[in-house]
Amino acid sequence: MAEEKKRRRTPQRGDKNRRDKREKPKLNAEEWKPKTSLGKQVKNKEITDIEVILDSGFNISETEIVDILIPDLDTELLLIGQSKGKFGGGQRRVFKQTQKKTREGNKPKFATYALVGNKNGLVGTGYGKSKETVPAREKSTRNAKLNLIKIRRGCGSWECGCREPHTIPFAVTGKCGSVIVHLFPAPKGTGLVAEKVIQKIVGMAGVKDVWSKSFGKTTSKINLIKACMAALKSLMTTKIRPEAIEKIGIIEGKIKVEEKIKDEEKWVN
Ligand SMILES: [Zn+2]
Repeated sequence: MAEEKKRRRTPQRGDKNRRDKREKPKLNAEEWKPKTSLGKQVKNKEITDIEVILDSGFNISETEIVDILIPDLDTELLLIGQSKGKFGGGQRRVFKQTQKKTREGNKPKFATYALVGNKNGLVGTGYGKSKETVPAREKSTRNAKLNLIKIRRGCGSWECGCREPHTIPFAVTGKCGSVIVHLFPAPKGTGLVAEKVIQKIVGMAGVKDVWSKSFGKTTSKINLIKACMAALKSLMTTKIRPEAIEKIGIIEGKIKVEEKIKDEEKWVN
């Protein structure tokens, strides 16, 4: 009896699972009415792979497309703001709070930066700002899903040479404002040697080992995020020689099951 009562209890403030339930409303794929032609194709199951859309260059303008095609998508908010108040304040917060002075008083606004990804070659970041915290969070997650990109992975480290997609295939650079971010391939077991926000973004993209350098005012986190994303974007835009794909083991986007089996066969032989 006692157990049943516990189960029925509504989630309380201190509960562990309370947040997760509130933040992830389940998508009902059958009730969804797509407005764009791309959305209709996804609903009719003419398109079953997100990479087809990303390769074709079509704009994703409905978040449901991403929700349906990537069921294991993770969402996270990056720490771009700072707390105010006593004892120095300055602790990193999810919401960046800004104010406008008016005759009536101060009008606060809240901004967030969301990060989405499947930890397997796909990432996206998005910015959202609103007068209240909840719409700001929703806007940013929406923007992050619409700005999804895929990256190239491989083993570009001369110390490793294992041809597995655990790091990036070559060094890349991104810039935004004064912030410059360099990412370098690292051997297996290095981990993510980078600033905390870069760690989160690169980890969400599915890279396990990376070395990095950053210059400029890296405390302005929005510019740091943008610079990091620019670096990851240039992984796809850089021209590579066809023989390098085999030599470094470059993989675009997520690892397919067939490729995994092929790799295993290689090791057996
Ligand atoms: Zn390697």
